[in-house]
Amino acid sequence: MMINPFFFRDIPSTDKVFISNLLGEWSILKSREELYALVSSSLKGGQLNELAAKGFYSESDTEALSFSKAAELNLTAKFSKGLFRPSLIMVVPTLRCDHDCAYCQVSRAPLSSVDHELEMKPAQIAQAIDKIAAPAFKLEIQGGEPLLRPRFIIDLVKELRVLRGHGFDVVIASALGPDMSDDFLEWMHTENVSLSVSFDGIPSVHSKIRKSRLFDSFERFKQQLKRLSDANLSKNVGFVSTITREIIELGPRKIISACSDLGIRRIYSRPIANYGFATVTKKLIGYSRKEYSDFLEAYIDEIVKSFQRGEVFFDEGIGLYLSNLYSPELNVHVDMQSPSGYALSACIVNYDGNIFGSDEARMLFESTKNPLLPLARISGSELLENNIEGHEGLISSSFSECSPLCDTCAYMPFCGSDPVHHLASQGDFVGLKPNSGYCHHITDIYDILIKKIGNGEITNKMVVSWLKR
Ligand code: SF4
Repeated sequence: MMINPFFFRDIPSTDKVFISNLLGEWSILKSREELYALVSSSLKGGQLNELAAKGFYSESDTEALSFSKAAELNLTAKFSKGLFRPSLIMVVPTLRCDHDCAYCQVSRAPLSSVDHELEMKPAQIAQAIDKIAAPAFKLEIQGGEPLLRPRFIIDLVKELRVLRGHGFDVVIASALGPDMSDDFLEWMHTENVSLSVSFDGIPSVHSKIRKSRLFDSFERFKQQLKRLSDANLSKNVGFVSTITREIIELGPRKIISACSDLGIRRIYSRPIANYGFATVTKKLIGYSRKEYSDFLEAYIDEIVKSFQRGEVFFDEGIGLYLSNLYSPELNVHVDMQSPSGYALSACIVNYDGNIFGSDEARMLFESTKNPLLPLARISGSELLENNIEGHEGLISSSFSECSPLCDTCAYMPFCGSDPVHHLASQGDFVGLKPNSGYCHHITDIYDILIKKIGNGEITNKMVVSWLKR
């Protein structure tokens, strides 16, 4: 028996050890003793067969060579994802917003602003998108509050249909503040538009943290959900929540019961970002790494309990990591790719005509105005490219397989890199991982999931049910 290269990590607060390899296979060993037995090739029976089948062992030189070839092919497939045009195109028709969320990461502009609208015609934007987008892509309309510009959205989609037919899907990210006319709702229905709606899980927190000067934001959210339901659009609505200190203090059970009351079965939760106004407000509404990981663990416990009660609630923010563990080849999340999906799988056309390689890059630009951040600029019918040297450097620094510490990390086959996060927080594209909020979040969530899978709290049946859509 020969051992093939593998990674290992002691799972905190257990005796167990997580092992993984470049094929994206993994297993949980009972103890360090089992790890030593693996290394000394003294494992026996079913466990030996299972680990050999996952590529941790080879029986001969030929098999070891096959492992190397398979690992090479796996890496080639992973790296090749970036050789195509971006499949996620975001457009910001306005940075104005009717909400005043405490953790706003995009540095929203006031409703009355006249300087934060995309002035170019939809046809011009559609032509630019046609030049940069993959044959099949998702068009995500971002803001500010994009529903302040329904006519622009309709016209942009119309122009793009002329150029690209039905080769793209449309999703609008909104807090649902503005009125939606009957015509607009009908258009959304006809175009099968999805809505990614902000809802902070607990009504009182939503009204307080995601507040508006114009209305009670939770009441408004509820009215608008009803309107969408009446227009037969409920199935097109997804929910995104930002976890704040208040939510952590109130506890995860409250999120699940509030969502059940509203008929929400799936939500996508995420921690407060490190961009825009959130960089300041985080001191008031944020939390420590430990507080967040304790919350996550309690949240996962509650989701497990709710599954055991026969309920169907799930958080897709957790599902992203489970999906990476069980199907790493399906990962398309921009910040969880190696190399980063920056400009390779995503692009964003900003309200000012600048084009960025990721949503986070435009957020960082809004607060720094660093002229090196835009990739290009739309001017008239032309696409003016900026010097791409820095962007090439960003992408070439984003291979986790050769980043310090990532290159020996057991979670690396299921992780990625977020160069803009590290640029914003540490001043370079790679970042020192022991100081990286990105790395902390990922290691903590995988540690919790692996611990719960290892001790049988999370079962295969749950994973299959949660990841089924
Ligand atoms: S970012 Fe952290 S968790 Fe991800 S591969 Fe690197 S060291 Fe591991």
